[in-house]
Amino acid sequence: MPKHELPALPYPYDALEPHYDEATVRIHHDIHHQGYVDGLNKAEDKLAEAREKNDYALIKHWEKELAFHGSGHILHSLFWLGMKPQGGGEPGGRLKQQIEKDFGSFAAFKAQFTAATVGVEGSGWGILVWSPMFKQLQVMQAEKHQNLAQWGVIPLLVCDVWEHAYYLKYQNKRAAFVEAWWNLVNWGWVEQKLNGLA
Ligand code: MN
Repeated sequence: MPKHELPALPYPYDALEPHYDEATVRIHHDIHHQGYVDGLNKAEDKLAEAREKNDYALIKHWEKELAFHGSGHILHSLFWLGMKPQGGGEPGGRLKQQIEKDFGSFAAFKAQFTAATVGVEGSGWGILVWSPMFKQLQVMQAEKHQNLAQWGVIPLLVCDVWEHAYYLKYQNKRAAFVEAWWNLVNWGWVEQKLNGLA
């Protein structure tokens, strides 16, 4: 089974300054994200071992690890790609149209995404998803990485609000971090993803 690997950052560690500080980005990517990659590989190895031995005594544990670390790896990969130096502003094209169709306006979408993200209970994420079944964009909160998801949706843009994502620079001010994060959004990349789906 191919091992999962930590994707390289698509920009230098300090490229998102001043909105996202170098020290946090470095720890977040090299330590935290790597941890999810390692955890996912371990869960897959342990499940392969269980199949070989036909021993499923720890099946609940390893399935939980698979969901937790797999979701963590996916969401962090999207998190890095969803930002860029000199990002922010507003989306254009197809993404703008779809946002206006599903949320009324960009301002309304941004307000809902911000409120959902700041309001995550405990650790988690604000996530813009595309639902192939409903053919619409939705905003979701995820608790941890995997709870409160909706089956079948495809995450497009994600904002990490685990404390490790902002505490070094923003301490308890999660809302200030989310506000700064809007200045980094790579709308072109998000639109490209949507174009491949919708
Ligand atoms: Mn994180």
